[in-house]
Amino acid sequence: MLSVVIPCFNEEQGLVRLKEALTKELSAIVPDFEVLLVDDGSKDRTLEVMRRISAEDPRFRYLALSRNFGKEAAMLAGLSQARGEAVAILDADLQHPPELLARMLPLLDQGYDQVVARRTRKGDGKVRSLISKMYYKMMNRLVDVELEDGVGDFRVLSQRAVRALLSLGEYNRFSKGLFSWIGFDTVVVDYENVTREVGGSKWTFRKLLNYGIDGVISFNNQPLRLAVYLGGFFTALAFGYIIWILTDALIRGVDVPGYVTLVTGILGIGGLQLLFLGVMGEYLGRIYYETKRRPHFLLKEVSGDADAPVSVPL
Ligand code: UDP
Ligand code: MG
Repeated sequence: MLSVVIPCFNEEQGLVRLKEALTKELSAIVPDFEVLLVDDGSKDRTLEVMRRISAEDPRFRYLALSRNFGKEAAMLAGLSQARGEAVAILDADLQHPPELLARMLPLLDQGYDQVVARRTRKGDGKVRSLISKMYYKMMNRLVDVELEDGVGDFRVLSQRAVRALLSLGEYNRFSKGLFSWIGFDTVVVDYENVTREVGGSKWTFRKLLNYGIDGVISFNNQPLRLAVYLGGFFTALAFGYIIWILTDALIRGVDVPGYVTLVTGILGIGGLQLLFLGVMGEYLGRIYYETKRRPHFLLKEVSGDADAPVSVPL
């Protein structure tokens, strides 16, 4: 059996179309499937549509989170409830074409544990594509795990890969990295980018920026290491400069000019200190969240279970 996990946030317009597309594709490629629609605290009628879809076809189950916990949490909720031997993760907006599953599933049978879909950047803004390309270049140098441009959450996982993911209990989840961290044999399937037809993307520039920072910080302490190197570099530079300026003052007598050097020094070093104070703060904040040990999401409604527990252990 194949489980399909679909995080949905304000997707009322697309859900019925999604259901039709999925039913058609899935019945053609697998004998049995379930679809787990996860309502991530939508503000529109998404949950009502889910209830209706699930009443019409019990292969469509749904989970409703108690508020918007973010896509990462919604995916996790779906994964934790999936019963299939293989689990696919798809977006609700049909930007992850279900047809591709027909090419992905056979690879899972060949023994791969993760079959990853990689999209082209067709139809994306020029600036956004360029920034993401640069971001991934930088990330791969900075971070231990391998991340790839165009590779997102669209993938099919084996049961043990799902179990591995669920065993990572961290509160800050940067799933692109977690997928890569768990390892196992992974294979990539390419597909042409599809643009969203209804509704809008939930990514604002600010969300993307924060996501980018999360990626850099969530993996290792390289940014802190960078602070050590830069600090060392500037200390060495400062020592050299002090020696030079002392000798100069001793030989030629005290000279007043030096305003420019002073200001540049103070501002430059000050900025750097603030930056790395921020980096340290990011790590500290993460530790703070981890120590709370809060659940990743709370459930308010589950299809077919009137008295579902609000919090499920992973
Ligand atoms: N999503 C979610 N919670 C959120 C934001 C998004 O579950 O807080 C879902 C959304 O409904 C969609 C998927 O995540 O199914 C991808 O979102 P979107 O299409 O906005 O992102 P993009 O395709 O632009 O990267
Ligand atoms: Mg989308």
